[in-house]
Amino acid sequence: MHEPSERAPRETIDAWQLGALRDQLALLLEHNAFYREKLEAAGVRDAATVTDVRELPFTTKRELCDDQTAHPPYGSALTFPLDRYVRVHQTSGTTGSPLRWLDTPESWAWFTAGWRRIYEAAGVGPEDRVFFAFSFGLFIGFWSAFDAARELGAMAIPGGGMTSRQRLRAIIDHRATVVCGTPTYALRLAEVAREEGIDLAASSVRVTIQAGEPGAGLPATRARIERAWGATCFDHAGATEVGPWGFECTEQAGQHLNEAGFVFEVIDPETDERADEGELVVTNLGRVGSPVIRYRTGDRVRLAAAPCPCGRTFARLDGGVIGRIDDALTIRGVSIFPSAIEAIVRAEPAIDEFAIDVHRRGALDELCVRIEAPTAPDTAAVAARVEAAIRDALALRVDVDVAAPGTLPRYELKARRVTDHRPA
Ligand SMILES: [Zn+2]
Repeated sequence: MHEPSERAPRETIDAWQLGALRDQLALLLEHNAFYREKLEAAGVRDAATVTDVRELPFTTKRELCDDQTAHPPYGSALTFPLDRYVRVHQTSGTTGSPLRWLDTPESWAWFTAGWRRIYEAAGVGPEDRVFFAFSFGLFIGFWSAFDAARELGAMAIPGGGMTSRQRLRAIIDHRATVVCGTPTYALRLAEVAREEGIDLAASSVRVTIQAGEPGAGLPATRARIERAWGATCFDHAGATEVGPWGFECTEQAGQHLNEAGFVFEVIDPETDERADEGELVVTNLGRVGSPVIRYRTGDRVRLAAAPCPCGRTFARLDGGVIGRIDDALTIRGVSIFPSAIEAIVRAEPAIDEFAIDVHRRGALDELCVRIEAPTAPDTAAVAARVEAAIRDALALRVDVDVAAPGTLPRYELKARRVTDHRPA
């Protein structure tokens, strides 16, 4: 059976997914020690009898980390002998110890096919020149995007081992039309461009693709990136151990889920029941050498109810990733995602950078937002507006302090803007 098109009827997509899932499970039961044990413990002994992904056990990051500790360095969740694998990457380690991940030529081809889909949906083609504002190391990030650009026939321009100034220079000198990076770094480059007197909006860049953080899914952050770069901004989500699962079409109406590469579920993380908003659970189809089955991503998402105006039938999220479930802050009994605060802060054009601190004073939680707004004529007025907007939108009283220009941390990859100082 051929992989379904992005506009295939639901029954076609479901039937194809079940077939691909069974093929994969048959291989795992035979060759993959980690999954054979998990599947057999869950009573799955014959792939052909599986009728629904929900018959399979969940996989957690903890399990995978423990498996790699028990079977160093790559663990036992591998379907083939080690000499079949040609790529190695590891997670950034922002949430716990780094996880190492291997790919065979076939699974890497599956990975880059996921990225070609991202490019095509964003209208990126062979005539484009794609610059990667990224330090190419063990983190998987844009390695797959780089290979996929080449496969697409576009020019792939690596931006590793450069300062921000050198990257800006390269973008302009090579007349890049597409820039890939994290939303935090897209804004950082815009800030450096301003300091250097470079008019980014006048550059040849027409598209930016942002990954690694929720930012580009937030309207205020997206608008700011688009204004600074004079380019259309697309949001993308994926993970080292999972693959590139989300892509945005030119309607920019939230991320579509790549249902030709994955089976998706959204569950209530407390009850494990299906939900419209909750944790994204992912089973990949095609990364057979190092798959994940019903993987608890820890990403909070909300399914869009209406079909996308683009006509794609692949499911779609309302916005992108709302946040990491573990990153939700409980302030005086109320659960708040840092992205909700970012959405408000980024609506103030003069704010270059911000940080969030949580303290406990006596019995009371206190949330403090620090902002840098060097170009604002009246920073106190900016702070007062942010304070009022957070109070109105989130019913939360916060302190907003003005930090001296250049004193808050800047980031090239994922930002860590939240510090919780409360005792555990
Ligand atoms: Zn669409």
